[in-house]
Amino acid sequence: MPVTPEQEAEIAELRATPRQTLRAVSEGMEKHLYEVKPVLDHGFVRVIDYMGDDAAICQAARVSYGKGTKSVQNDAGLIRYLMRHWHSTPFEMCEIKLHVKLPVFVARQWIRHRTANVNEYSARYSIMDREFYIPEPEVLAAQSVVNNQGRGEVLQGEEAARVLEYLKTDAARAYDHYEEMISQDGQQGLARELARMNLPANIYTQWYWKVDLHNLFHFLRLRADSHAQYEIRVYADEICKVVADWVPAAYQAFEDYRMGGANLSGKALECIRQMLKGEEVTQESSGMSAGEWREFQSVLNG
Ligand SMILES: Cc1cc2nc3c(=O)[nH]c(=O)nc-3n(C[C@H](O)[C@H](O)[C@H](O)COP(=O)(O)OP(=O)(O)OC[C@H]3O[C@@H](n4cnc5c(N)ncnc54)[C@H](O)[C@@H]3O)c2cc1C
Repeated sequence: MPVTPEQEAEIAELRATPRQTLRAVSEGMEKHLYEVKPVLDHGFVRVIDYMGDDAAICQAARVSYGKGTKSVQNDAGLIRYLMRHWHSTPFEMCEIKLHVKLPVFVARQWIRHRTANVNEYSARYSIMDREFYIPEPEVLAAQSVVNNQGRGEVLQGEEAARVLEYLKTDAARAYDHYEEMISQDGQQGLARELARMNLPANIYTQWYWKVDLHNLFHFLRLRADSHAQYEIRVYADEICKVVADWVPAAYQAFEDYRMGGANLSGKALECIRQMLKGEEVTQESSGMSAGEWREFQSVLNG
């Protein structure tokens, strides 16, 4: 359970006290507000606040005085046009604020997305919880032999058991020492800002993360992608579900043009033109490198 019964009660209280507002409200998003979406063994994502909806994107694009909406169909068409033509600023008019609990090594990847506002739990001020990410056996995999930045076959038998045991016992031992070092029981007690340095990278941290929709789509494009590490991808996948309910038209356009679409180089486009004319095209004739050709083939073959 990623949250305590007390935290659950706080969340329930927030959801039990709705207020009236003149602001734009996304009905799809309201059902997610404050709710904990469990991710990994102790992590979660939850929406703390949001601004705007599909109509807000159109309103900004049309710089209108009123709601800015014409019809759902018309708006969806405009949103698709904006997405298709990389007209990004209307998407920046929507914002989302998330509360995320995640392992530190995932946070290191996440924080690389600089176009967000972040406030992290302070391990100088507070004591870290004894919570460590221990992978499920089915994702505990060997180094990939085809991709330096990835994993391959799942570890088996004695090796899998030994690795899991190391992960658990090393984390427990590091935390025991952490607790012992900060203890003021019969000793001065090491400062928390120093004691934390021997905690492993699979310990959980938490932050509030606020980002606009344009930059969130950029994050999701990279992190909900199959090339992203599993442990960050599961967070991105959970956020995708929320965004699909928050701004359905924008999310559909994003899925179509960004997640489902592909960027083609001039050489790749030329190859397609030649293929359509029935001409034979090879890597040598294309002028592409072996890697480019492989990726081009995988775009064509789906
Ligand atoms: C599969 C994968 C593997 C990766 N591997 C590595 C790795 O091995 N090593 C590593 O260090 N990183 C790695 N990264 C991180 C990656 O290089 C980016 O740092 C990360 O994805 C954030 O992307 P971003 O900078 O586009 O995002 P953001 O920081 O959110 O920026 C969004 C956009 O804003 C603009 N922008 C933001 N800040 C600036 C700025 N200061 N100057 C100019 N333009 C700016 C850029 O156009 C940028 O694309 C990896 C990422 C992925 C998805």
